[in-house]
Amino acid sequence: MKAPPFEYVRAESSAHAAESLREFGTDSRILAGGQSLIPLMSIRLASPSHLIDIGRADDLSFISADNGSVAIGAGARQWTVEHDATVLAKVPLLAAAIGRSGQVPIRHRGTVVGSIAHGDPSAEIPAAFLAHGGSVVAERVGSTRSIPAADFFQGAYMTALEDDELVREVRLDVWPDGTGHAFEEFSHSHESWPVVTAAVLVEMNGDAVARASIVMSGVAGTPTKASQAEANLVGQVPTEETIADIAAIAAADLEPFSDVFGSGKYRKKVAAAMVRRALTTALSRSGGQS
Ligand SMILES: Cc1cc2nc3c(=O)[nH]c(=O)nc-3n(C[C@H](O)[C@H](O)[C@H](O)COP(=O)(O)OP(=O)(O)OC[C@H]3O[C@@H](n4cnc5c(N)ncnc54)[C@H](O)[C@@H]3O)c2cc1C
Repeated sequence: MKAPPFEYVRAESSAHAAESLREFGTDSRILAGGQSLIPLMSIRLASPSHLIDIGRADDLSFISADNGSVAIGAGARQWTVEHDATVLAKVPLLAAAIGRSGQVPIRHRGTVVGSIAHGDPSAEIPAAFLAHGGSVVAERVGSTRSIPAADFFQGAYMTALEDDELVREVRLDVWPDGTGHAFEEFSHSHESWPVVTAAVLVEMNGDAVARASIVMSGVAGTPTKASQAEANLVGQVPTEETIADIAAIAAADLEPFSDVFGSGKYRKKVAAAMVRRALTTALSRSGGQS
């Protein structure tokens, strides 16, 4: 099928995109890389009256770092972010998650912000974003607001963004040097759609865990933080047994959905396995005093 007819607006800047959202109303949609929106339009699950293309807005394709965070503009393509030196040095978990998200041509077009704004419950990039913590900077005509990562995802394909807002950038908290990271994914082939993922960060204080972040995707309508498992891990000097226990706690309260890729029961088992693997790798990569 082909997409239904629509009007095309090329936004020259973030402010121009915000003005266009206001002018064309709730039926208009931001077009970033188009890797999710265009397929949805082609199968008529989306039929916006206006597409507001931010792909050539010069003020949105940045990647920058300041006090304690890395900012990624809404125009920055996944491939560029994945290979950016600042991202690799400060938020390598994000680069690892992008590396598992779709095939290389898709990552050349798709944006990091587009994946987060889309809110697919199985997607890799939102899981890494939530694991880091940080915020979404939303812009509408005349104002901007910061939405904490923990409040942004509200359900499958539903976010805290209002109809007249676009995401200008996402900001990821940088964890201290020596933090271990790992991204694990179960999918039916290396580059196919994820079934379940686990994104993990561990900060050490000597041999003990000082802080941990464990997020899974593909187990609920939104990326899911394993808060109880994180709390139980803090203060422990982890062993293989501890890691298995923490992974079991992370999956214990999940009630995942079932689909063609796996039943809810199956996803729950896979989630525990992904968390166990990710924790093991993250701990092996961690080091130094907090
Ligand atoms: C063959 C194929 C395989 C794929 N495999 C995977 C995979 O394994 N894992 C995965 O997670 N994804 C996968 N995808 C989806 C892909 O990664 C998309 O790039 C990503 O989900 C969306 O990014 P985008 O820039 O293309 O956004 P678009 O498709 O342009 O937009 C997606 C949605 O977000 C909104 N949006 C985008 N930017 C903004 C903004 N700045 N402000 C407000 N709203 C905005 C749009 O209006 C739209 O509703 C795949 C896609 C294809 C075609």
